[in-house]
Amino acid sequence: MTQTLSALLAAANPEAPAIGAPDRPWLTYAGLAAQSTVTRAALHGAGVGRGDRVAIVLPNGPEMASAFVCIAQGAVTAPLNPAYKLDEFDFYLSDLKAKAIVLPASYDGPALEAAEKHGLVVLRLDFASTDPAGSFTLTAEGTTAASADTAMPDADDIALILHTSGTTSRPKIVPLLQRNVAASALHIQQSLALEAGDRCLNMMPLFHIHGLIAAVSASLAAGASVWCAPGFDAVRFFGWLDTARPSWYTAVPTMHQTILQRAPRNADIIARAPLRFLRSSSASLPAQVMLELAATFNAPVIEAYGMTEAAHQMASNPLPPRAQKPGAVGIAAGPQLRIAHEVENHLLDSGIGEVVISGPNVTPGYEGNPDANAKSFFMAEGLRWFRTGDQGSLDDEGYLTLTGRLKEIINRGGEKISPLEVDGVLMDHPAVQQVVTFAMPHDKLGEEVAAAVVLRDGQTADEAAIRAFAATRLAAFKVPRRIVILPEIPKGATGKLQRIGLAQKLGLA
Ligand code: ATP
Ligand code: MG
Repeated sequence: MTQTLSALLAAANPEAPAIGAPDRPWLTYAGLAAQSTVTRAALHGAGVGRGDRVAIVLPNGPEMASAFVCIAQGAVTAPLNPAYKLDEFDFYLSDLKAKAIVLPASYDGPALEAAEKHGLVVLRLDFASTDPAGSFTLTAEGTTAASADTAMPDADDIALILHTSGTTSRPKIVPLLQRNVAASALHIQQSLALEAGDRCLNMMPLFHIHGLIAAVSASLAAGASVWCAPGFDAVRFFGWLDTARPSWYTAVPTMHQTILQRAPRNADIIARAPLRFLRSSSASLPAQVMLELAATFNAPVIEAYGMTEAAHQMASNPLPPRAQKPGAVGIAAGPQLRIAHEVENHLLDSGIGEVVISGPNVTPGYEGNPDANAKSFFMAEGLRWFRTGDQGSLDDEGYLTLTGRLKEIINRGGEKISPLEVDGVLMDHPAVQQVVTFAMPHDKLGEEVAAAVVLRDGQTADEAAIRAFAATRLAAFKVPRRIVILPEIPKGATGKLQRIGLAQKLGLA
């Protein structure tokens, strides 16, 4: 089995396009291989090699994609969100034990200040816009390190270090080995049946696992191409569909919802788009949104379930002719996937419990966090299982339905309420565009149900009307006590809606 990024790339046709971007010539697989060789040489020249951690702080785009792929073939990559402030760079660079940092040629912001404070080797990335997308030069600035291990990384070396999104607690450091990344890329390639002729439009941030693995690595594992947009932009999306002519794209549900809002005025572009399927992952895709997307784009919508610790994918809805079940996050697609007792370390044969996984894509464990590791891993039936922190159940056909994150399940005086169930009901109200149900502190009950709602353009409905609607479909204890109507719901850096802390943010606690 292919267990390193280098081996993953080796199979592609050297002449085929690998990385593209707006108004740029394509970088071929031969070009990407050459870029990997010069990148390794530049790293080694600066004293950075196998096992050394290289923070990458670049804007989203083709250089970020190829910098990840090329640097991961010589050292350890640690992409960071370029929007971080000084304190955040300070924290992440020391948490990661970075030895070097890659910054744009003319960058002079807080990442540089933090890098200088920690004495990192600063590598400047430069490129010409007439060069193929994703080709670049890397030049060491000032001091370099004394020496580098110039051997190629093997399957058990770390390829990528990311922090979790921090949705439920302080972000945790997740080291992903070469074999974890290669396995996940191949799992995604297989579940989407990606072939050389496929083209992904990437709009996902490349400091997050979803874009790095599902869009970039899975495409390269297939010998296919990935066209890197500068980020998500619902207005420019339709232009990109027309110029890049992708066969698929992957996004988080909030992006799909924004795209849907703009779809009616772009019907002609949608009609001629060669999309084979759309993919959604990283947060819950309401069944209503999935059905609306499938109808609008006349293409199957493949919802998948991923997390940083699994190098992204754990489950995926299958392609036609098998059914994509709205509301389900799919069937096991890579690792083995089971339901475990939420407290005791054993697997369940049926019912609701904690989703656990075991497979070649799963991180060996959090770094520097023995407590989290002790809680997250256990042995059963001869395998080492990782607890995802998500609650769900498997149906007779092996489709997984999530009921929420264990930390987000609302505990109303002992009654456990799934925020996803309440979301699903409110989404059925004709005026509702988006919902996030969350726990609001309550004197006697401990927690009470609340929801934040965004209305569809031009629609009106008040709190009382939406509550009355919910009461026709939900037992009284599940009906949100408060429904706040907002123009927009606050999101985390990767576009995720955050249930935890929302009551405080909205002044309900
Ligand atoms: P943290 O672990 O720091 O709280 P996070 O869990 O949001 O942050 P990620 O690794 O980016 O960090 O996200 C993984 C989580 O996203 C999963 O555990 C799950 O809760 C959620 N998720 C991913 N895909 C889906 C999906 N299709 N439906 C519902 N939830 C999903
Ligand atoms: Mg998590």
